[in-house]
Amino acid sequence: MDSENIIEARGLYKEYSGYPAVKGIDFTVERAECFGFLGPNGAGKTTTMNMLQGYVAITGGTLKVFGMDLKGNERKIKARLGVVPQENNLDPDLSVIENLRVYARYFDIPKTEAMRRAASLLSMMSLLDKKDEKITRLSGGMKRRLMLARALINDSDLIMLDEPTTGLDPQARHLIWQKLKEQKRQGRTMVLTTHYMDEAEHLCDRLVVMDEGRILALGTPQELVDKYARGSVVELPVPEEGESELINALAGADYDYEISGDTLFINSADGDSVIARLARFAKGGFVHRPATLEDVFLKLTGRELRE
Ligand code: ATP
Repeated sequence: MDSENIIEARGLYKEYSGYPAVKGIDFTVERAECFGFLGPNGAGKTTTMNMLQGYVAITGGTLKVFGMDLKGNERKIKARLGVVPQENNLDPDLSVIENLRVYARYFDIPKTEAMRRAASLLSMMSLLDKKDEKITRLSGGMKRRLMLARALINDSDLIMLDEPTTGLDPQARHLIWQKLKEQKRQGRTMVLTTHYMDEAEHLCDRLVVMDEGRILALGTPQELVDKYARGSVVELPVPEEGESELINALAGADYDYEISGDTLFINSADGDSVIARLARFAKGGFVHRPATLEDVFLKLTGRELRE
């Protein structure tokens, strides 16, 4: 194994009672990068995260974490992981600092050292003044910051983050992003799932888009935007008489398009030339904007609602 690869998955496969949730995926996560999993509900992201943490048994393929085969090394690997699960699972009967102290016991961290780390992590997460507060009195943002502090108590160099900011207000999300970036600068490796495309763009060095248990695309956010959304998007209303005349006007331009509801989305590397050709159709106005990961996501996974 390349020593810079913290995770190596080959043909990773998971079946639940005959239902294939992850259908043989390959990826590597390098040291000190933030690697993201994007995908609609049911894509297999959490199953993959749970396999990486040894919580869910693998049905097929191989998985190495820290250079060790996961099979047979689950305990050793778990001891080196920091985990922020999708749902907060703080102990409501304990205070903020007690939650950290008790969690530190799972890693056999001596009490004095645990208290030193807890105080330092609470200070880092701007929670020191809440150290004796009951969990039930914390806001959603505070609970999430405490979950992150807890994940760092064993000084892990691989942090697994399953939707770390879901449901938080923009202030709380930005604070968590800032803290995660600090962790990355210190050389920690992160694996992240999120439904927020801006979160992935902010944090991820590389990411995959998954759907129905398969990886559809892998790359840096910019590579994916350039490859699948072609850099820029022009949006304009579909003319009442239909789009065919408008499409004729685009002859010779390098683009692709999609209609969703009453809007036409035209992706191209040269939005200015698209606009020049469409000027006479754009009486009702148009939007010309850089393409985003959200465009990539919708292109790859479609606009149909998932349940
Ligand atoms: P979400 O964005 O909703 O969290 P996800 O991408 O994390 O979705 P998973 O939770 O990994 O998706 O689920 C993948 C598929 O496996 C889904 O069809 C789900 O219903 C199924 N699944 C997940 N856990 C189990 C389980 N314990 N038993 C049976 N099926 C499961």
